[in-house]
Amino acid sequence: FESSSTFYTDTERSMALAEQAKKVAAEFDFPKENVNKAVKEFLREMSEGLEKDGTELSQIPTYVTAVPNGTEKGLYMAVDLGGTNFRVCSIQLHGNTTFSLTQSKVAIPRELMVAKTSKELFSFLAKQIEAFLKTHHEEHYFHHIRRRNTGGQTKEEEIFNLGFTFSFPVQQVGINKGMLMRWTKGFDIPDAIGKDVCALLQVEIDELNLPVRVAALVNDTVGTLMARSYTSPGKTGTLLGSIFGTGTNGAYVEKLDKITKLVNKKDAGNYDNSTGEMVVNTEWGSFDNSLRTLPNTAYDIELDEKSVNPGIQMFEKRISGMFLGEILRLALVKLLHDPKVSLFKDENSATNDISSTTTIAVDSPIWKQWGIDTSLLSICAGDDSHGLRITRQTLDKDYGISAASAEDAEAVKIIAGAVGKRAARLAAVAIAAVVLQSGRLDTANPATTEQKENISPPRGNVQSEGRGEVREEDVIDIGVDGSLVEFYPDFEEHIRAALREVEQIGEQGEKRVRIGIAKDGSGVGAALIALVAGKVASPQQ
Ligand code: BGC
Ligand code: MG
Repeated sequence: FESSSTFYTDTERSMALAEQAKKVAAEFDFPKENVNKAVKEFLREMSEGLEKDGTELSQIPTYVTAVPNGTEKGLYMAVDLGGTNFRVCSIQLHGNTTFSLTQSKVAIPRELMVAKTSKELFSFLAKQIEAFLKTHHEEHYFHHIRRRNTGGQTKEEEIFNLGFTFSFPVQQVGINKGMLMRWTKGFDIPDAIGKDVCALLQVEIDELNLPVRVAALVNDTVGTLMARSYTSPGKTGTLLGSIFGTGTNGAYVEKLDKITKLVNKKDAGNYDNSTGEMVVNTEWGSFDNSLRTLPNTAYDIELDEKSVNPGIQMFEKRISGMFLGEILRLALVKLLHDPKVSLFKDENSATNDISSTTTIAVDSPIWKQWGIDTSLLSICAGDDSHGLRITRQTLDKDYGISAASAEDAEAVKIIAGAVGKRAARLAAVAIAAVVLQSGRLDTANPATTEQKENISPPRGNVQSEGRGEVREEDVIDIGVDGSLVEFYPDFEEHIRAALREVEQIGEQGEKRVRIGIAKDGSGVGAALIALVAGKVASPQQ
């Protein structure tokens, strides 16, 4: 039985594989000129967003006007609805830059992410809070129930102030009030759009009679910024809190007078203007939705078209954990359909028919949308085992691809590395723009070598200490959290390389940027904001 297609030898096919893999990888290049163009565009969109509503970068005023200094004290609650998990925690702030935290975490059931009504989601959240109180604050909880059952009122000081970390774009109109603008990260519950998410949660909390008041609405990036400032109070305070996890976003400290869309508004609501600053939630996931400067490969286009929110969160779709695995998958599928290339082919087969020669199981997740998890990128990037044994084992165990050869694994590693590197370089665009916008690079004296005695001491929770000879007052501190910064090897190194390529930053500027992990910062951050908000609600405290 003669096949009409050309027959390729094994050697031809494996040479073609390496070559093709490199070609595909090159499609993810994001060179210096493009980084610089994107930084410029980012700065333009930042300014535009500070002036008016409805822009690509939303630049949402958060009503948070001060960052903590580590002396804050008290017991608070926080909940965090992220992209993947729901966490409930209580936080004891000790007032000496340390805190203790009790928490419980559940994966958000898929069906609730796309529930018919928002009530289904929010009543689930309230039930988790109830369970947490019963387990970890039993006495407090039952005391409250007893009082209520005997017709008494729970005293003001016995009500928990809760910080609600809600990691989606919300048009905030006050410290504990904000309307959902759009869902991201695969959530889709239409009736919640335009509603005050604090009220949605409070209604369900009240239905269960819990001694809890939703005191503050907090984006996870704002929480990260607060947490980083509390645990690592530098001379100038942390500039930026950012997340590179399931989604991506950043919140930074802006001068109030630059937020003209807020300060010029008559009914802007209450905020303390004594610091002259306010934290702004950029919602940079939607940076450059119109693709003026973002790279756009065939894989990016296909991913976007098949997503629940085509045309939006375009920056996020190139950077964050929810999407990188899918980009890799689409690139690999393209190679699989190339008969010249021997990716995952059975070496002993003498035909070019994909279905009969492949070592991939028919039900392998590689054939399904979202089938490849971003953790595969981290595994590949960290794999220095002989013949990429670890990558091959993962392909076998998690993806039904048995007997992948070392060449196959190498091809996967090359492409995965390119996707990860591009993500980090794009992340650098956002960080660079925020650093430039802050003007903090202009204000300090250049670091000199005589000042070596001022090197900052190592901090326990910090991944990177900048690069040595920078004086503490010249450090520009940035808090990061999320699975990519935590698990993707070299994510920070790729970010730093790109920062050095930004014309107005360069080698000198990059050295001054200190990037530190604020792990699970959003919990303690939300507590800190609830503290400030609680003081406003009950000034006797
Ligand atoms: C959301 C942001 C959030 C980020 C990180 C994005 O999808 O729009 O509000 O901060 O994910 O969780
Ligand atoms: Mg999170």
